[in-house]
Amino acid sequence: MSKKIAIIGSGISGLSAACHLAKAGFDVTVYEKNNYAGGRIDKLEDSGFTFDMGPSWYWMPEVFDKFYADFGYKTSDFYDLLKLNPGFEIVYNNNNTIPVWSDLNKIYDEFEAIEKGSAQQLKAYLKKAEKIYSIAMSDMVYKPFVSWTDFIDSKALNINLLSSLLYSVSHEVRKRFKHPYLRQLLEFPVIFLGSTAEKIPALYHLMNYAAFVQGTWYPQGGMYKVTEAFETIAKNLGVTFKFNAPVEKIVIENNKATGITVNGVIEKADCILSAADYAFTELHLLDEKYRNYDLNYWNKKTFAPSSLLFYLGINKKINKLKHHTLFFDADFDSHIDKVYKTHEWPNNPLFYLSATSKTDTSVAPENCENLVILVPLSTEIEDNESAVNAIYNNIIKRLESYTGEAIGEHVIFKKQVAKKHFKDTYNAFKGNAYGLANTLMQTATLKPKMVNKKVNNLFYTGQLTVPGPGVPPSIISGEIAAKLINNQN
Ligand SMILES: Cc1cc2nc3c(=O)[nH]c(=O)nc-3n(C[C@H](O)[C@H](O)[C@H](O)COP(=O)(O)OP(=O)(O)OC[C@H]3O[C@@H](n4cnc5c(N)ncnc54)[C@H](O)[C@@H]3O)c2cc1C
Repeated sequence: MSKKIAIIGSGISGLSAACHLAKAGFDVTVYEKNNYAGGRIDKLEDSGFTFDMGPSWYWMPEVFDKFYADFGYKTSDFYDLLKLNPGFEIVYNNNNTIPVWSDLNKIYDEFEAIEKGSAQQLKAYLKKAEKIYSIAMSDMVYKPFVSWTDFIDSKALNINLLSSLLYSVSHEVRKRFKHPYLRQLLEFPVIFLGSTAEKIPALYHLMNYAAFVQGTWYPQGGMYKVTEAFETIAKNLGVTFKFNAPVEKIVIENNKATGITVNGVIEKADCILSAADYAFTELHLLDEKYRNYDLNYWNKKTFAPSSLLFYLGINKKINKLKHHTLFFDADFDSHIDKVYKTHEWPNNPLFYLSATSKTDTSVAPENCENLVILVPLSTEIEDNESAVNAIYNNIIKRLESYTGEAIGEHVIFKKQVAKKHFKDTYNAFKGNAYGLANTLMQTATLKPKMVNKKVNNLFYTGQLTVPGPGVPPSIISGEIAAKLINNQN
C-alpha cells in the first residue's frame, strides 16, 4: 500500500510537492484552509474585471517549463505565454521614463543615453549576472541545504558565486553606475522583494539577468492560469484536495508525526509536509518541544515587506500606462527607510502598477483597464484606514499628473487589502507578503531548514525555506521537499 502524505497548504510550493510526490507513488492529500488552490497566486473577479491578487511578474520561464516537462507537458498545454515589450517601465521624477525593452540592444541604448559608458558597464554586469545565474540554477537552487555539506560542493564553492556572497547588490551596482535612475532600476527587484540593496548579497543580481536577458512574460488569462495548470496536473496524478480544511494541529506520538487535526477530526498520515507559512506551522500547529525555531527566532528574522494593494476597475482606456510600471517619482530613500528602518506609513510612496488589460482583453470589459497598485509596507505597522486613504489620493493624483488624464472619477470598482489580509487569508507571520528577505544571513544553509530536527517524518516547504520567495523558487522548493521525503521513504 502507498504511504500516505498529508500536505498542509495548496500554495504553489504545496502543489509542486504534491505533483512530484504523487508521481513518485505516494498517496497524497492536500489540506487547504481556503476554498481554492494557489495560495498567494490568487485572482479577484468582480464587475467584469479579473485581477491578479498576488504575483504578476512571470520571470524565469524555464522553471515553469521544467516543471511541466517533468510531468510530460508543455507550458503551451495550459496557457499562451507572451513576452512583454517593454517588459516594464520605470517612471522617475519629472515624469522621465526608462522602458526596459525585450531587445537587450535597446536597453543598452537607453542606458547610454542617460550615462556615457554605462552600456559597456551593463554588458559586463549582465555577463557576470549570467554566470552567477547559471551556477546558482545548476548547482545551488535545487539543493535542500539541510547541512553545510550541500554548500561544500565544488561548484557551489565557485569563486564567482562566493564573491557574490561577500559583496552586496548595492556595491555591485554602485561601482559601475552613477546615475540614480540606473541604480534604482538595477536595485529595485531586491528592494521590492527583500531588504535594502546594501544588505542583499550580490548573488541576487541574478534577478537582473532574469529581468533584462530572459525578459518579463505574461500567461494570457493572468497568473491564476499557473495555479490552474498545477492543480490539473496534481488531480491527473491522483492527488486528493480538501478545501475549507484548516489544519489545527500536527499530531505527534513517540516523536513521530501520525496525522493532523482538521476541523476537529484527526486525519492519519505516514508523513507530513507543511507548505503553509513556516512560522505559523511551528508556532500554532506544533507543541513547543517539537519546534525547530521559537518565536524569538522569527522575531529576529528580516522579513520582506508587507504590501498595500488597490484593485481598481477603470471605465476607460489610459493610454500612457504599460503592462508593468514602477513609479519611482518620489523620494526613494525616504520610502525605503519607512519600510525597513523607521516602520512608518509612507506619505508619498514608491509604487508598482500593473494593467494586464494592456495585453489581455479577457481581464476587463471593453475599453476598460484593470489596475493593480502595490505599495511596499513595513511588516511592523498595523492597518490604518486614514493612512490608506491618504496614500490612495496621493497615488491617483500622481497617476493623473503622469498620464494627463482624469482617473479618480473613472474608478467603477475598488477593493483594497493590506497586512491583515495576508495574516487572515494565508496565516502569514506578521502579515508578510513575500516571506523572508534574501539577506546573506538568510541564504541557503542559513534559511529555516526543510526538515524538522526532532520529528523525522515532518518537513517544510515554501517561500520561508530554501531557495526563497517568489513563484519560481517556491515551485523549486516543492520539488526539493518531495525529493527529501522520497529519499527517506
Ligand atoms: C502581493 C504579492 C505580489 C507578489 N509578486 C510576485 C511576482 O510578481 N512574481 C513572483 O514570482 N512572486 C511574487 N510574489 C511572491 C509569491 O507569490 C510567493 O513567494 C509564492 O506564491 C509563495 O508560495 P507558497 O506556496 O510558499 O505560499 P502560499 O502561496 O502562501 O501558500 C500557502 C498556503 O497554505 C495555506 N494555509 C496556511 N495555513 C494553513 C492551515 N493551517 N491549514 C491549511 N492550509 C493553510 C494558505 O491558505 C495558502 O494557500 C508575490 C506575493 C505577493 C503576496
